[in-house]
Amino acid sequence: MYLIVANWKMNKTVKETEEYLAEFKPLVKDIDNVEIVITPPFTSLYTASESLKDSNIKLGSQNMFYKDSGAFTGEISPLMLKELNVEYVLLGHSERRHIFGERDDLINKKIISAIENGIRPILCVGETLEEKEQGKTFSVIERQIRNGLAGVEREANYIDIAYEPVWAIGTGVSATPEDANNVHKFIKEILDEISSGNSQKTRVLYGGSVKSSNADSLIKGEFIDGFLVGTASLNPQSFYEIIQKLMWIIKV
Ligand code: PEP
Repeated sequence: MYLIVANWKMNKTVKETEEYLAEFKPLVKDIDNVEIVITPPFTSLYTASESLKDSNIKLGSQNMFYKDSGAFTGEISPLMLKELNVEYVLLGHSERRHIFGERDDLINKKIISAIENGIRPILCVGETLEEKEQGKTFSVIERQIRNGLAGVEREANYIDIAYEPVWAIGTGVSATPEDANNVHKFIKEILDEISSGNSQKTRVLYGGSVKSSNADSLIKGEFIDGFLVGTASLNPQSFYEIIQKLMWIIKV
């Protein structure tokens, strides 16, 4: 099933979260062929969790630490997320990598912890503009996937991947459907190899300036299984318009 994930980043207060969900839930209430996930900021998780009970929208977190509890000031643990019915966690988002200095080895610990705790990780990978211009797109992505999944390669079916070229995030410039599809194909080949064929259930999402006007051409790509959406997910109506594009091209 296609997967679409809203990454609200550091946006929306509790009140704004309530208002958003009050508008968004009725729009998508009958959708059962696209999996919809919202990742609010930590402060809104409880409210969202309550609001999404008995709904077809799932809850995700934008990050987490890899320990269950302890002296880790400012961090949030998998146990805390599970208590709020969080089913997904974004890990290795480019803003975590490039603004907060998260490296592959830390991201790998988080991936392992998420799997152990039954929270499905979405490993975000993607090259910077400089790396793209140097022709390093494929080697960067291969490194991020191999290092990110080290030790849990055989568990690939319990992980999703988001390919987000850093130069496309929040810029309004998305990858071309052809380029994105080629990278997704490459990602699926690596996953198949490292997992020894245990990655049929791994979805590879595209992220980076997805909006309703480019969603249909991107989703036509054979290897694109859904989207991670930032800016366009902040408005319930524009997020819903992207979901509608997915519903029109249903892959079994
Ligand atoms: C993101 O940050 O995950 C993202 C895809 O952002 P945007 O849609 O704004 O490019």
